[in-house]
Amino acid sequence: MNFKKKFEITKKHLTSKTKRRPGLLISPAVKFIVAHDTGNPKSTAKNNVDYYERTNNEAQASAHIFVDDKEIIECIPSITTDKPEKAWHVRYCVSWDNELFGYEANDVAIGVEYCFGPNINAQESYNRYIWTLSYLCYKYNIDPSKAIVGHSVLDPGRKFDPENGLKEMGKSYQQLLIDVVKEYNESIEKNQTINANILINNDFKIMKLIKNPTSNKIYAIDLKNKKHWIFNEETFNTGMDMGLWGEWDNIESVGDDGYEEGHTIIMAKQ
Ligand SMILES: [Zn+2]
Repeated sequence: MNFKKKFEITKKHLTSKTKRRPGLLISPAVKFIVAHDTGNPKSTAKNNVDYYERTNNEAQASAHIFVDDKEIIECIPSITTDKPEKAWHVRYCVSWDNELFGYEANDVAIGVEYCFGPNINAQESYNRYIWTLSYLCYKYNIDPSKAIVGHSVLDPGRKFDPENGLKEMGKSYQQLLIDVVKEYNESIEKNQTINANILINNDFKIMKLIKNPTSNKIYAIDLKNKKHWIFNEETFNTGMDMGLWGEWDNIESVGDDGYEEGHTIIMAKQ
C-alpha cells in the first residue's frame, strides 16, 4: 500500500537536547495522535516553530508538527523518520491518556497543531491537517478511527483544542474524526499485484511486479541490488514475449537508491 503524498512536509528541527526537544525516542512505539490547535490565531506554522527555537530552553512544552494553509512543518522528528522523538504536549498528571490508550501521551503520542486565524485560509489549513493526521496513522499502522484524540479530551476543563480552532472552519471535533478516516481511505493506494513472476536480465532473479492503478505505472523491484524499474503499461505489455524484459531501452527510469515507499515486493530466490 502507498499513501498519496498530497503535500510537502518541511523539516525544521529544533535544537536537540533542549527543554523543548529532549532528544528522547518515543517508546515502545507510536500508539496514538493528539489533535491540538495553537490557541493563537495570529500565528503561522513557521511563527510557532521559530518561537519554539528561540525559546528552546525556556519551557518543557512542545509539539511535533505545525500545520497551516501553506506548510506542514515538523519541528520534532516524527513524520519523516522511523525514529520518532518525544515532545511535551500533554501534562503527565492527567489520566485520560492512560485510561484510553494505556500510556502517557508524551511517551507514545505525536502532537499535531492546527494553525488558524484571520490570515490563514481555514479550508487549506484543514485539508493539510486531516491529511497529516491520516498519514501518521498510515505510517505507524494505527487505526484512524480510534487513534486520534483531542487535547481537550485528555485534559478536560483546562484545554479546549482543537475545538476552538476548528470553530473557525465551522467544523466540530466529531467531524474532524470522521474527516480523518475519510481522508485516510481516500489516500490509501492499494497496489494491484500482477500474477507474473518474471526473470530479469542474466541474474535470473525472479521478481514480482506490482501495478499502481492510480498512476498506471508498473514497478519491478530488485531487492538484492536495491534498484527498481518503472514501466508504463505499454512498455510492459510489449515486453511480454522478449526473453523476459531484456529490452532495457524501454525502461522509463531506473532508481538506484532503494525503493519508493510502500512498494512491497516479494522476491523468491532462484
Ligand atoms: Zn493542545
